[in-house]
Amino acid sequence: MRDPGLDRAIVGGGATWADVDAATTPFGRATPGGLISATGVAGLTLSGGIGWLRGTHGLCVDNLVAADVVTAEGRLIRTDETENRDLLWALCGGGGNFGVVVSFEFKLHPIESELMFCSPAYPEGRANEVIVRWRDFMETAPDRLSGLAEFSTLPDDPSLPEHARGRRVVSLAHVYDGPADEGERIVAPLRSFGEPLVDFSGRMPYRTIQSLYDALFPKGRDRCYWKSTYLSRLDDGVIADITRGMAERPSEMTFASIWKFSGDMQRVAEDATAFGDRSMP
Ligand SMILES: Cc1cc2nc3c(=O)[nH]c(=O)nc-3n(C[C@H](O)[C@H](O)[C@H](O)COP(=O)(O)OP(=O)(O)OC[C@H]3O[C@@H](n4cnc5c(N)ncnc54)[C@H](O)[C@@H]3O)c2cc1C
Repeated sequence: MRDPGLDRAIVGGGATWADVDAATTPFGRATPGGLISATGVAGLTLSGGIGWLRGTHGLCVDNLVAADVVTAEGRLIRTDETENRDLLWALCGGGGNFGVVVSFEFKLHPIESELMFCSPAYPEGRANEVIVRWRDFMETAPDRLSGLAEFSTLPDDPSLPEHARGRRVVSLAHVYDGPADEGERIVAPLRSFGEPLVDFSGRMPYRTIQSLYDALFPKGRDRCYWKSTYLSRLDDGVIADITRGMAERPSEMTFASIWKFSGDMQRVAEDATAFGDRSMP
């Protein structure tokens, strides 16, 4: 950390999000990362970086204030608001095309000691109804609440209740970036769209939340193909298409998630970063 003001983190080009959260959260600070702590800061940031704090603090690139980059000619250059500004713009979503970033400088933000993590898992047979209710709820949800609806198959794991093991579910995973009491109250409706099969919700430190999903994606285990698209609206027909597609999934390792975009990440102009358009909800 740079100074006692605790307003910046300087992160090496090979660091993971686990490294960053371990260094910042003891000071009650965080910068937006991704959902899996083993992913690299560099690749995730250079492609935008979408995580649990997007509603309150935007994408990773919205918090990137400076970087040190080694260019193809082997020159080490600094980019920030005043120096090589066009390069900073390009790094904010343009991927690893502009040089090797050896150091990133991010804004830090105060974070509560505990946050409310919400994650009820409903039987997939009820997905259409649950996602319609989730969509309607999220229309007026506060910016502090960021989340997604996810289709997956629960592992056949003895730590899960027997009735939930190996079941196909749709989970409503959310984090409320604010006081945990307030968050618990706000997410209550998401946890009561009928009886969840199992509910993983609870109050916990941000750093714990940041590694909650690590076990689902052990680094190096899977060869994955991931693809995403923006939706201008999530109408009932689209929900039915997604539900039908997932019912026909080729493998229990196939999953799909619908991410709601709102708040700070959408307040950044399309041309302000190489990430581009933020308008899709
Ligand atoms: C399990 C998993 C979960 C994910 N979750 C999220 C998520 O929640 N939010 C999200 O936004 N994305 C997520 N992603 C996507 C993720 O942002 C990309 O896979 C990203 O490329 C990972 O970066 P990396 O540094 O770990 O990967 P790498 O494969 O090491 O790098 C990816 C790209 O970045 C380049 N690169 C790496 N380091 C540097 C550097 N220092 N300077 C310049 N270029 C560099 C590489 O050359 C390569 O082109 C996830 C991916 C996985 C596998």
